[in-house]
Amino acid sequence: MLIVKKFGGSSVANKERIFNVANRCIEDYKKGNKVVVVLSAMGDTTDELIEQAEAINPNAPKREMDMLLSCGEQMSVAYMAMAMASLGVPAISLNAFQVAMHTTSAYSAAKFKRVDTERINNELDAGKIVIVTGFQGINKFDDITTLGRGGSDTTAVALAAALRADACEIYTDVDGVYTADPRVVPNAHKIEEISYDEMLELATLGAKVLHNRSVEMAKKYGVQLVVRSSLNNSEGTIVKEVANVESMLVSGVAVDKKAVRIAVIGLKNEPGIAFKLFDLLAKNNINVDVILQSIGREDTKDISFTVSEEQASDAMRVLKENQERLTIQKIEEEENVAKLSIVGAGMQTHAGVAAKMFEALYSVGVNIRMIASSEIRVTVLIDVDDVDIAMKAVHDKFLDD
Ligand code: ASP
Ligand code: MG
Repeated sequence: MLIVKKFGGSSVANKERIFNVANRCIEDYKKGNKVVVVLSAMGDTTDELIEQAEAINPNAPKREMDMLLSCGEQMSVAYMAMAMASLGVPAISLNAFQVAMHTTSAYSAAKFKRVDTERINNELDAGKIVIVTGFQGINKFDDITTLGRGGSDTTAVALAAALRADACEIYTDVDGVYTADPRVVPNAHKIEEISYDEMLELATLGAKVLHNRSVEMAKKYGVQLVVRSSLNNSEGTIVKEVANVESMLVSGVAVDKKAVRIAVIGLKNEPGIAFKLFDLLAKNNINVDVILQSIGREDTKDISFTVSEEQASDAMRVLKENQERLTIQKIEEEENVAKLSIVGAGMQTHAGVAAKMFEALYSVGVNIRMIASSEIRVTVLIDVDDVDIAMKAVHDKFLDD
């Protein structure tokens, strides 16, 4: 078998954990499998690098940020190869250049285009464990790019797809995907199986266990994922096309505290304005979520939407640069908001799910500011201070058992 195993930052946070991971990989290797390991940066390394960069230049060029942040992963793969060597197992670390993992040019938000497999296959055929840097790629200018925070999962899936791996295992510090954040909702439980579509929604809406692009790519290439703990042997959560459990009404609750609401006020009330606004944001790689349009004063309209904290300053800059062309009178930004979402394939066939969610929020006095929904999710925008109580109430309404 060819197995891709990805370990997150907490799984390689110190020497002891590095050896724990090394041993888990060697176990598979000694059974005769080909093993490709993808690693994140150790512990909080990426956060620390960002902090240091901000001290030098709070508006650092994105190209240079990627140059810097890619170092974290490069450290962990080298340490891992050293650990394996000390255990007498042939291993080699490779960065995105050496593999050649080609991405788009968008620094800090690059997407994979193509992954070369020759070097990795040669090393595997030579009997080595291959350890690859997560989170990074190279673009057409031969520059280093990164995939966005949490992107190592996507590296693992891209490699699993390119190498036609038999298994893709994502190791983290929790036992799998939970119905809600167990630190906030004590009776949240592990999900045994979940479909790509539900997982994609959960990941996009704030469940941090998987990078959303990794799920998108897994679905596209039919890579079945297992999310499990690097610290024990429990079964984990399987992510696949159709989950085996009977379609649950709601499979999980996700919260995103890093949502920022932007209100664009006083737009001309005429056709094409919404198109011009969102086209501009899309062309600048800014992802927009919950959208609300309302009637303004004097034949104008107001449009509010949410973006991630990471992209908020970009969004504000782009809007201000185009304020006149888009006929915008005023732009407001608000950070103290959070998105709370329920996700479930069962919603497609059941009425009244949204009402039940709103009832749960009403029962704990939480005010809803904006609403968005799709076939398999309902999202509300609420005050960030209400998040914990809202998540508990909504989880208990649908998932308490
Ligand atoms: N080290 C990167 C981050 O902290 C990538 C990852 O962990 O997947 O976001
Ligand atoms: Mg992660």
